[in-house]
Amino acid sequence: MIKAIPTDAAGVLDVLLSSSDPVQTALRNQVPHLQVAARCTCGCGTTFFDLDTAAVQPAPCGPGTVVAAEAQFQDGDCCGEVLVFAAAGYLSWLEVASWGRDNTITTLARVQQVLRQGRARPLDS
Ligand SMILES: [Zn+2]
Repeated sequence: MIKAIPTDAAGVLDVLLSSSDPVQTALRNQVPHLQVAARCTCGCGTTFFDLDTAAVQPAPCGPGTVVAAEAQFQDGDCCGEVLVFAAAGYLSWLEVASWGRDNTITTLARVQQVLRQGRARPLDS
């Protein structure tokens, strides 16, 4: 029985993996099969995933660990970056980094809100 990942993490993945690129499409199809392995203990939104690799197709992004998607965001004085890592074609972890004066931005719920408001700048466009 798969326990779905939290809606905040799913929402951020949904925003980041939204292109029709074959890698992002394959990774997006893995999201329903993800489970949370661990969350960062510092209080930021960084989340490590477990994936039932038998249930999904690997994304065509090679055998190594790659940044599958990333976006920078800005929220007042705070800005940061959110990155999706894939290892051997499988979703692996979601990392949130911020370098503002405060850390209000670092929860995934807040990151998702800012991304959906269009204040993110995808790095690959
Ligand atoms: Zn952390």
